Amino acid sequence: MKDKIYLSSPHMGGAEEQYVKAAFETNWIAPLGPNVSGFEESIEKYLGDGNFVAALSSGTAAIHLALIIIGVKPGDEVICQSMTFSASANPIAYLGATPVFVDSESETWNINPVYLEEAINDRIAKGKKPKAIVAVHLYGMPYNVDVIKKISKKYDIPVVEDSAEALGSMYKGRKCGSFGDLSILSFNGNKIITTSGGGALVSRRQEQKDKAVFLATQARDDAPYYQHSHIGYNYRLSNVCAGIGRGQMERLDDHVELRRKMNIFYRDIFKDIQGVQVFKESSDDVKSNHWLSCILFDQITPERNPDGLREALLAENIESRPLWKPMHLQPIFKDSPYYGDGTSESLFKSGLCLPSGSNLDNIERARISKAILTYFNA
Ligand SMILES: *Cc1c(COP(=O)(O)O)cnc(C)c1O
Repeated sequence: MKDKIYLSSPHMGGAEEQYVKAAFETNWIAPLGPNVSGFEESIEKYLGDGNFVAALSSGTAAIHLALIIIGVKPGDEVICQSMTFSASANPIAYLGATPVFVDSESETWNINPVYLEEAINDRIAKGKKPKAIVAVHLYGMPYNVDVIKKISKKYDIPVVEDSAEALGSMYKGRKCGSFGDLSILSFNGNKIITTSGGGALVSRRQEQKDKAVFLATQARDDAPYYQHSHIGYNYRLSNVCAGIGRGQMERLDDHVELRRKMNIFYRDIFKDIQGVQVFKESSDDVKSNHWLSCILFDQITPERNPDGLREALLAENIESRPLWKPMHLQPIFKDSPYYGDGTSESLFKSGLCLPSGSNLDNIERARISKAILTYFNA
């Protein structure tokens, strides 16, 4: 059997081990230390002036804390992009609030501004103004930042920018992760950079970062003994993992370029295959990191369909995956309100994510190319 080609696997650059070794040598084997602050500083520098970063144990933890800082309480409603990974929506449920799902637009696959506004107005008419909007840059493709921000301002509802898949993506020359009232990043093993597991909350205000760190370290009051006036969490990033992150940050620009090259690789393969589109930027305002390269089938036939291609790749030990199944179609969220026209459902049925790692070599690319061309008899 040929070696497995993964959808997106960790890609170490070399410096990671030195930072981890330094953690051992100085005995900073704890959820704080020089790697944690160094990692935070390197992300702040990358995102630009005015961004404050709290390194956390996961992106999910970051969304949870963002919603707490915004003030989401049991019984509240929070709007969430339906087409996303469940981690965008789960923290809403952790807080005893109800997610209200909004469909995708076809250009970016992200939250549709028309249905977003319809949802807000309808929820207000039903007596409950939503407390927050969770908007996602899916697969690294930026959502329509200006329009979403305008709606957020008009109704005075803060945006949580889920940038878990979009570190290195840009909108109008600015980096994703710097747009929401609060933003989150993920450093899970499959993301564009990894700490093996980790995440961050990004804010434009120092006091929000301080609040996140306070909540993430068990919410201890300023007293010599353990005193608590808030419910706390154990959500801080380990200094050992942060060492991996510092090494990864040195390679982030390379990773983005390599993932973008994978997208061009697929555009080359599919340019002569009728009826299949490679997902790409629909305007010069945006630059995707192409965390995952995805394709869409114009039509589903017995000979040509996403599941058939997935099986054909699997037979060559190449991993691919259907697009995220929308949250309003998930059994656990079946009772949550949804606003849309079925766009995300149709994307889910006609799309496929292809291997997109920054560490795929020429031999692996040749295997992928051959398997795809064979499936399409091209
Ligand atoms: C990965 C991911 C998350 C969660 O990040 P973790 O670090 O895995 O907790 C949240 N939202 C989206 C869109 C993601 O892809």
